[in-house]
Order: sequence, then structure tokens, then C-alpha cells
Amino acid sequence: MSDSVAAWLILPLGIALGWYIRGRPGRPGSPGAADDDRPTAEAMAGMSHLVADDPDQALAALLRVGEFDSQAVELHLTLGALFRKRGEVDRALRVHEALVERAPLRPDQFDRARYELALDYLKAGMIDRAETLFEALSQRGLHVTSALESLVSIHEQSHEWRRAIDASRRLQAVAAQPRQAITAQYYCELADEARRAKNLDEAQRLALRALDEEAGCVRANLLLGSVLEAKGDRLGAIKALRRVPEQDLRYIPEIVEPLLRCSEAEHQLPEFLEFLRELDAEDTVSVSVLAQARLLRETGSNPARFLAESFAANPRWALLEELLKVIEPPQDESMALAMNTLQEALRIAASARTRYRCTSCGLAPGLLFWQCPSCKQWGSVVPADDRLTPVKT
Ligand SMILES: [Zn+2]
Repeated sequence: MSDSVAAWLILPLGIALGWYIRGRPGRPGSPGAADDDRPTAEAMAGMSHLVADDPDQALAALLRVGEFDSQAVELHLTLGALFRKRGEVDRALRVHEALVERAPLRPDQFDRARYELALDYLKAGMIDRAETLFEALSQRGLHVTSALESLVSIHEQSHEWRRAIDASRRLQAVAAQPRQAITAQYYCELADEARRAKNLDEAQRLALRALDEEAGCVRANLLLGSVLEAKGDRLGAIKALRRVPEQDLRYIPEIVEPLLRCSEAEHQLPEFLEFLRELDAEDTVSVSVLAQARLLRETGSNPARFLAESFAANPRWALLEELLKVIEPPQDESMALAMNTLQEALRIAASARTRYRCTSCGLAPGLLFWQCPSCKQWGSVVPADDRLTPVKT
């Protein structure tokens, strides 16, 4: 429901609620009821305040009404949800808190009111209260899928990865949703925390645990490569990194630097080039050229010509960036100045290129996020196409 629709519905709903309470058979103020017409007056006052666009006074009047039957409760629940939808969380909270505190409600309506209240708390940033209610509801098997989805979201936001794993497993069991890939990401988050804390053995164990959960987890092998390299096990790192293309070819650019580093240190650059040739993938063009340029540099040759020819055949940003690093300025002073200006302009253009892209929402972040900062999808951000393409007009 859009916000504008929610805005339009508030007024008729308030009128319906006021009318309903006013007209209930056997209620005070209705035909044949007792003389005490206070609830009716308050309901009608609520209605008129809503008509006058004075929601706070309207709510105060409506919530003073003595008892609700199930239809009135339904109307209040709908009204509260609409307030929240409009971003008026304080008003939604007042409606739902009044309902929860106003026993007795039917058990299913009491639980629904608690669920709506939990959503209000979440939107208001009262995370502890929201979590307590969602946990209670999920334990009772009520609104369990929505409650667990909310709990997963809460634990993700608070970086409580072990609790996220627990909620994710329960959600997978209840909703029959395959969530192994996301659970593996939580293990990777834990592994990354351990790696940053220099607890490399624990980081290795958790990265392997992620792979147990989801064999296709690229991030786990990248982490494993990083951890094993830090532990001095470069051959182990090479083995882990080489598994990445088997999992997802799009992430090949991510293994270039660590694989080059480890292969150089282990005198395995020819094996690395052979590995790339065997992959024979479009994405390996830049990687292969960069590795060969590195080999040329190691043997004392300037790879500028090789890079220029490779760039002409395959115009890629990575090759242009490398070429800019190795071009030597001409002897002529004015030409050197012109070349320097050109190099700097191209460096700026290269640094501004799209490096990553979210396949879910299209965001183009400058870093590889494992959870998209915009759409919150896990594993949706991938390295962007490295090709230079003409600007379309
Ligand atoms: Zn996204």
C-alpha cells in the first residue's frame, strides 16, 4: 500500500470506527441502550477530530472508549497499521499499546496487536522491545515467519551474527526457504571479525564452516586465501583462491592481486598464467595481461609496448591503469608536460569508473560489499564489466 493510499484511508477509517462504536447494538448511546452516552460522545468526538484533521485529539477520544468488541479491535488494528505506514509511529504505538493493555482481547487479536506493536517498535528504533516481542511470538508459533524475518533483520543490523545464524536456521525450517547461502555469509562475517582480531585459526575454521554451509560461497574462499596467506601458507592460499572461478567467474578480478602475490612468492607465475589460460574466460583477459606484464617487469623489461598492444586489442580499464603506471615521459619538455596532463586526466577517469555493481538494485559502489548497502541483498554486488565502452549520446 502506498503512503498516499494510506493517507486517504485514515479519514474514512476513523469515520467508520466512530460510526461503528456509535451504532453498536446494546452499547451505551445506541438505540435501547442505557442513558450513559459517554462512549458515543467520545467516539463521535474522535470522528469529528479526524474530519478536522486533528489525529491526536481523535486518537485520545477513540482510545477513551470503554470496551471494544472484535470488530472495533480490527478497525483499531487497521488504523494503527495505517498510521505506521504513513510514518506516524507515535500514533501507531498509542493505538497498539492501548489495545495490548486493554484486556480482554481475543487471543488471536491480542497476538496480532503484539505483532503490530513489535513492528512499531522496530520502526521507532526501539530495537530491544521489538526483539523481545518478535522472539515471544516466534516461540509461540504466531506470525512466526514474519517474526523470524524481522529477527534476522534486527540481528543483521546489530551485527549479532551468531543470533542471525540461529534465526536464519529457524526461518529456513519454518518457511522452507533455502537460506544456506545467507547463513554462509553470517559465518563469513564471523570469520572476518576473527581475522581482524588476528585470531587466524578461528577465522580459518569459520571460513571452512561457511563452505560447509554453502559450497558455492565465493567469499569464504577469498577469506580463506587471505587467512592462509597471513599464516604463511601461500600454497594453501593459492589452492583456496583457485577455487573461486569454479564458483563464480565474475569474481576473478578479486583473486588477481592475492594470487599474483602468492604465486610470485612461491615462484609459480608460469603456473598462474597456465591456470588463467585454462580458464579461457572473457573475464581473464585483463588478469592474464597484467600477470604477463608483471613477469616482464621482473625480468627488467618495460611492459609498456605489451600493455599498449593488449589494450588496443582489448580495451579494459585495468590495462589502461597499468599502462599509465609504466609510460615513461618523453625527452621534450613540452611533450612531457602534455603527456603528464593526459596521464593525470586518464587516471581521474579510470578512478571514477564503475568498479562494482549490484545485480539486484543497480547500485554502483566503489567497494565490494557482501551485503548491498542499498537493497540489503547478500552476494548481489559483483565486479563490474571492465570493458571501456563508448559514451552513448
Ligand atoms: Zn542492491
